[in-house]
Formats: sequence, structure tokens, C-alpha cells
Amino acid sequence: MAGLKNIAVSVSSFVRNWAKVDIKSVQLHELEESVRALGEPVYHAKQIAEWLYKKRAASFDEMTDLARKLRLQLAEQFSFGKIDVVRVLGAQDTTRKFLFRLSDEALIESVLIPASPALYGMRSDRRTVCVSTQVGCAYGCKFCASGLEGFSRSLQPNEIIDQILAIEREAGDKMDNIVFMGMGEPLANFDNVMRAIRIINARWGLSIGARHITVSTSGLAPQIRRLAEESLQIRLAVSLHGASDQVRNQIMPINRRYNIETLLSACDYYALRKKQHLTFEYILIEGVNNSDEQARLLARHARRVKAKVNLIPYNTVRGLPWTRPSQDRQEKFLSILRAHGIATTLRREKGHDIDAACGQLRLQTKNVGQDSGVLLS
Ligand code: SF4
Repeated sequence: MAGLKNIAVSVSSFVRNWAKVDIKSVQLHELEESVRALGEPVYHAKQIAEWLYKKRAASFDEMTDLARKLRLQLAEQFSFGKIDVVRVLGAQDTTRKFLFRLSDEALIESVLIPASPALYGMRSDRRTVCVSTQVGCAYGCKFCASGLEGFSRSLQPNEIIDQILAIEREAGDKMDNIVFMGMGEPLANFDNVMRAIRIINARWGLSIGARHITVSTSGLAPQIRRLAEESLQIRLAVSLHGASDQVRNQIMPINRRYNIETLLSACDYYALRKKQHLTFEYILIEGVNNSDEQARLLARHARRVKAKVNLIPYNTVRGLPWTRPSQDRQEKFLSILRAHGIATTLRREKGHDIDAACGQLRLQTKNVGQDSGVLLS
């Protein structure tokens, strides 16, 4: 079709690079380009966005105020991905974990935290969704369930957005906070994550404020610097989990590529550019990273980059040898940080252990009926 050929050369490079882009991976200005190339009035693009993000249409057929011809043309150009809920774990009024099946049968998990504790400076009475950004994870942190079965692929922007839409549909409620801490390393899927964030943040999209969006990373220093150049004021959480290279090397292979000094220097840059406090996530693992010395070193790093610290007692993962420290040990670690003037929280509620880090959700490909046991065990 001549019209479609024109579209192919007129839309952005993102759209050009894909044989058939999902409609929920496209930004409004790109949609406008496409509609214009079809010879249709540009205002149809806003109507389409409204169908997607306000009226929550599940197909082009549902967009009944668009002419049938235009709907058919859209279906020719864009795919309309779906996400199926395979299983929901957890009670209605507490943290709920969702297992989703994507169009290619890949399985991912997301978590709904209905009334979350005060997270990353966000208000405490908000509903938070923790989304996955990859199927599995290639970074292999030793305490994390996500990396256990390897890495399959990165998610497309629409697959990130669909997690939120599906959870809002299931919960019958609008979400207020989004944290990129599910399965995968978000900054290893930088372009797709940023594209999803722009759509989540846009007024014509999900309309969630940038300050209510937190991206977590295991320490990809160059991408932290790249994130600092983005105009959106999203929040950053760094999964530190070890305060010296010796300890961090033991449990986070990424530290051999970007050691603590390299990571902290990227954090300095981020804090400076964004004029924003970041958060250090720190999972307390018995006998690994919970000594007094680690607490003092952690305090020094936090003071340097003006970071808050979020301590998370380790939650057992089936198949991994680590355990959580005693309550006394956790409190001691906390008291050292506070004595050094560091704003620190210690998660005491089990269901909120999801705040732990990027990841901790397990890639499930073999046995859907088996819970990963990470969040709600
Ligand atoms: S903690 Fe994050 S980066 Fe590390 S293996 Fe888990 S998901 Fe990957």
C-alpha cells in the first residue's frame, strides 16, 4: 500500500527500526506523524491515545469514533500486544504479586504494593507498582532470584506499560508510584525503559509524575551518567549491598566492571545534575555484608553522595544459601548509620521486601504453579 510506504519513511527511527511496532510503544508525536502520513487529521492521534490510556481499549476495533478505514490502517501498521494474568498471589489488601504471560509466552512478574511505606521520598498512602524490565537477568547477583535461570530478552516499552495497565484493571484502581525494581536490570534496557517512562509520565499517557517514578540499578555507572542527562526528574535507587569492593565483588559481579569508586563517582554526577537525593538499597545478609565496619563504610558513601539508605533484611530464596541477620544485628547496623547522621530506614514488614532491589523476582519458565517464594513466603 502506497500510504503505508509513506508512513514507513516518515515516522521516528524507533518506529522505522521495527517491522511492526506496538501501538503502546509509540509516543504521541510519532502517532501524529503516522496519522498525518495516512492523510488523516492529526487530532485522531489524541483520540487514539485516549482510547489506549484513558478508556483502556484492548483492540483497534474498540476505537469506535475512528473511521473503520483508519482502524484497519492502524492495525496494518501497529501491533496491539496483550498481557495475560496467569496467577495472582497475596491478599486483596496486601502486597500482591502478578505472574503475566506475554505475547511470545514469556513469563514475567510484577508486584502491587497497595499502601506502601514511605518509599524514595514518595507519599506513604500511595499505591505502588513494581515492574519488570527484562525476562530474567544477565547480571547474576548472588542473592537474587531473577538471575538464577539466566537472561532471555529485554522487554519492549509496551510490555512495561501493559504491566501497569493490567494491574490497574485487576485492582480497579489507579496507581500512583512506579518502581523499576522487578525482574531485570532496567538500565541495561535503557532506551525501552526511557520510552516507557515518557509514556507513563505523559499527560496523554498514564499521567504519573516523574517524581513518582523510581529506577533502580545494580550499578551500571555509564548508564547512571546517561540517566542524569535525561530531562525528567525521575528518582534513582542504587542497589549497593556491599560497602567495600571486597564484599561487593563477592555478591555482585557488576562490581568487577564498575567498582565502588566508579559507581560513587557516577552517583555524584547524578546528584549534581539532578539536584536530587538518591537512595542506596542495602540487603542485609548474615555474615556477608552486615558487619560494623560495612555499616561505617556505607555511612561514608551515603554522606558523600547525600543518599538515603534503605536496609532490607534478606528474604530467603529457594536454592540460595544466604540468610537474614538476627533482629539485634539489623538494629545495630541501623544504629551505626543513624549515629553517622544518615537518613536510614529498615524494612521490618515481610510483604514489603519487594522494595529490596532491582530484581528478586524469579524467571519462571518451567513450573508456573510453583511460587518463587521471594516476596510472600
Ligand atoms: S539484583 Fe537486579 S541486576 Fe542483580 S541479578 Fe537481580 S535483577 Fe539482575
